[in-house]
Amino acid sequence: MKFSANVRKLQPSATIAVSTLAKRLKAEDRDILDLSAGEPDFRTPGFISRGGIEGIDSGRTGYTPPAGLPELRQAIASRLSDQAGRQLDWSDVVVTAGAKQALFNAAFTLFGPGDEVLIAAPYWTTYPDLIELARARPKTVFGPVESGFKVSPAELERSWTPKVRGLIINSPNNPTGTVYSLPELEAIASWAKARSVWVIADEIYRRIHHDAPGDAPGLLDLPEEALPDVVLVDGASKCFAMTGWRIGYSYCAGPLAKKMTALQSQTTSNASAPAQMAALRAYGEPALADASVARMGIAFARRRDLTTRLFEALLPEAELVRPQGAFYLYFRSDNLGGASSSTEWCSELLSEEGVALVPGAAFGDDRWTRLSFAAQDSVIEEAVERIARMASTRRRRSV
Ligand code: PLP
Repeated sequence: MKFSANVRKLQPSATIAVSTLAKRLKAEDRDILDLSAGEPDFRTPGFISRGGIEGIDSGRTGYTPPAGLPELRQAIASRLSDQAGRQLDWSDVVVTAGAKQALFNAAFTLFGPGDEVLIAAPYWTTYPDLIELARARPKTVFGPVESGFKVSPAELERSWTPKVRGLIINSPNNPTGTVYSLPELEAIASWAKARSVWVIADEIYRRIHHDAPGDAPGLLDLPEEALPDVVLVDGASKCFAMTGWRIGYSYCAGPLAKKMTALQSQTTSNASAPAQMAALRAYGEPALADASVARMGIAFARRRDLTTRLFEALLPEAELVRPQGAFYLYFRSDNLGGASSSTEWCSELLSEEGVALVPGAAFGDDRWTRLSFAAQDSVIEEAVERIARMASTRRRRSV
């Protein structure tokens, strides 16, 4: 079939493809341990769900303004103002159907043919596709593995051309769990400002932060005068276990927020009204929300420790990035015997040992693999044992 040039290169999301296959095998009664999914394994906290249920019961089921319910945008702006230590304008917040839509809005509104957009790599699988949907050109920039792949202005400068109009940066990072420190963010912000490059800062995992108290550093922790042109993207999916509700948002300068709202008004109209009523609780009741984030955070940090400990004990040869945030472990699988590409290695692991992981090809480097530790401790233990078993069988075969 002949498709338009808009979508000719478009492929389904690689991470969703693996978890769909794992779910299908599970439904066929195969013994599958699925560590591929990019979502918390917790239920949405009750006080948030009740906001959605009460919204439905009280008839809040019609269209909302395209940029979202004003009271929700105000609540989000209040939380962002708490972080920034200054009053932010709620009309600069646009509520979207998941953070993914906020990223799409930003890419489609800012970039077009002839533009280049730098993507700090390894990257979340969707970024290059979003840039290509806008008919712009994605350019990946890898930082050194020793720093958890964090990019610095020096690497960005090496990839810069006069066509570069944007940079997508994601901290805490999916797939590595790497967290940029505030001085590192400041250095990138200053480079972007000097080069007049728009920064799309995807901070969806900011509240899942393991090594220090509080949230991971974000761009709004910087003084206003240090900020380049920026679109901040965040949402309720990960920190409030609300992936299926589809609530995200962007925060950016007024004229851009208005243009993105126009785009949204011509595409999705608005995020689901009951989901916005649920999110109103999450953003409007910070004490309850913080308690839920802290509760889930304790479990994620424990599982991070468990996963890294198991890797060190059972797979000491596997190079890995120690995650400081989010819920992923990124490790090199090309030296674990057998297949050298992670795509092949992951498919052997799934068919031989029933463990579903995501090959690094989805994130820009097919020597690496991503494991999601958003799962029960017992599932993580069993999965790492099975990975180690496959690696040791391969090693025995090769001697
Ligand atoms: N950004 C990153 C880095 C992600 O990992 C994800 C989901 O996996 C998203 C954005 C999308 O979030 P949402 O489900 O709110 O669209």
